[in-house]
Amino acid sequence: MKADILIRAGQVVSAVDKKSPLKGEGQAKVMVLEDAYVAIKDGRVLAIGRGDGREYCDSNTEIHDASGKALIPGLVDPHTHLVFAGWRAEEFALRLSGASYMDILAQGGGILDTVRRTREASEEDLLLGTLNRMDEILLTGTTTVEIKSGYGLDRETELKMLRVAKEAGRRHCLDIKTTFLGAHAVPVEFRGKQKEYLEYLMTEVLPLVAEQELADFADIFCEQGVFTAKESEELLGKAKEYGLKARLHADELVASGGAEVAAELRALSADHLLFASPEGVRAMAKANVIGTLLPGTSFFLKKRGYESPRRFIEAGVPLALGSDYNPGTCPTGNMLFVMALGVLQYDLLPEEALIAATLNAAYSLDVASEVGSLDTGKQADLVILKAPDYRHIFYRAGSQLVDSVYKKGILKVKNGQIVNHN
Ligand SMILES: [Zn+2]
Repeated sequence: MKADILIRAGQVVSAVDKKSPLKGEGQAKVMVLEDAYVAIKDGRVLAIGRGDGREYCDSNTEIHDASGKALIPGLVDPHTHLVFAGWRAEEFALRLSGASYMDILAQGGGILDTVRRTREASEEDLLLGTLNRMDEILLTGTTTVEIKSGYGLDRETELKMLRVAKEAGRRHCLDIKTTFLGAHAVPVEFRGKQKEYLEYLMTEVLPLVAEQELADFADIFCEQGVFTAKESEELLGKAKEYGLKARLHADELVASGGAEVAAELRALSADHLLFASPEGVRAMAKANVIGTLLPGTSFFLKKRGYESPRRFIEAGVPLALGSDYNPGTCPTGNMLFVMALGVLQYDLLPEEALIAATLNAAYSLDVASEVGSLDTGKQADLVILKAPDYRHIFYRAGSQLVDSVYKKGILKVKNGQIVNHN
């Protein structure tokens, strides 16, 4: 069979999909081919290998010369809050001058500010903002993204956010997965009535989310002072009955039993995890729950005092990396930057970070049969870097390194500019 497109690159790097998330020593095993090619047919990977790939070419094959440049799989971001209204730069400045998040919350700021503005925003404005942010992350190499609700905290706005995410996915070339996160916080109307709020979510919101097929997953903020492990189990168990697989915000600030709940429920992923208990980490490894680390968030919060996340690799927990893109605690969705933080702040190796942001992230979203590596038959989602070696992602952290992006075999970004995002 001949290729529609053949890309010749200085270096082709990818995980090799062995049909399960990579962990332990396996998380550092990437395939690196110098002077290699990727052949694409009908939007899928036809073959990759060393050499010029001429056996896959005929007079109809379009050749893309990327010699001297490294090529990696399209990045998969398994944790974002891309649908929101309004930034929170003032709050950021307040935090820099010493205000605590709790002070800010008490003044009606923080997440409550985003909730208020997201409730007020029209569906069109939210969609426009979301599409702009999808362009922004496409330019930094993301080709698949998860998007959560959770800034409505009422039925109408939670459904609105999920509709916006779905519509953005129809209009934009990025593949999306959506998550219902009604249990992101307790809204003002339910202050002091946490039980009632959860009951409301389970009886009046979740059934509609499921009926209107607006979400693939359900999520909850399992954290001291937010929702307990027991409440998380209850809500996610209920969501499971509606066919929504579980993921969790767990143990971000203190050990709150989130990792244990994730293992118990066989969740696809537990996210944040900096303060997960040793028992929780062991349970996750045993249940093969993916740990999604979000180093952008701890970086912007100037968080310290956590143990090296290498303990997850050592325990055999497969690791993914996500951006947590949101207006409060991580105002960037740049996965190349997040990968660099994974190496420079979380002690991962470059190979581990690459797998975490591609194949393991794809597993955490249940889409690894389609994306996450350059295996034959998967979608031809790939990124060509303005660098001869993929390790420049870490070494030149913060530099603009994306030359081109292909989504399903179609060139979407060329010379660092979007040529077509549909
Ligand atoms: Zn989050």
